[in-house]
Amino acid sequence: MSSIGGVGINLAIQDAIATANLLTEPLKKGCINTHALAQVQSQRQEAVRSIQTDQSLIQNRIIKRAMRGDQPLRLRMILRLLLRRPGVRDCPARMLAFGKHPKRISTKLIVAHPST
Ligand SMILES: Cc1cc2nc3c(=O)[nH]c(=O)nc-3n(C[C@H](O)[C@H](O)[C@H](O)COP(=O)(O)OP(=O)(O)OC[C@H]3O[C@@H](n4cnc5c(N)ncnc54)[C@H](O)[C@@H]3O)c2cc1C
Repeated sequence: MSSIGGVGINLAIQDAIATANLLTEPLKKGCINTHALAQVQSQRQEAVRSIQTDQSLIQNRIIKRAMRGDQPLRLRMILRLLLRRPGVRDCPARMLAFGKHPKRISTKLIVAHPST
């Protein structure tokens, strides 16, 4: 995993959520098998591949040019204009924070605590 975007921990948390959703019941019953593990992998593989593709694009199109340092790095005019629009401006941060395949913990796993 590249460090571009600092998304490693985000993916790790989403991996943990997918794992908890899929494996809690089999683990409680003590009947975990490779099929269950393969389910976790197939659920998370696309998310990881997709972010790695984006990281490669950023590496090759932005960071490489910035590291060469022979000319100032400027975003294209169209991108600069787009990134001034509130809805669009938040997209990159949202994508980095939650990814393209956000995960939520299954409601079955949320233990109800008595109110104090
Ligand atoms: C220097 C550094 C800086 C980083 N900075 C950031 C950052 O700013 N932002 C960010 O988002 N991410 C950052 N990361 C990346 C982030 O830490 C990792 O992507 C994330 O911790 C991966 O979590 P994980 O649970 O998938 O794996 P890990 O955190 O690697 O956990 C795997 C665990 O499994 C254990 N293990 C492995 N094999 C076995 C086995 N056979 N049996 C039992 N246990 C096993 C290992 O001992 C380890 O404890 C950084 C990483 C490094 C190294």
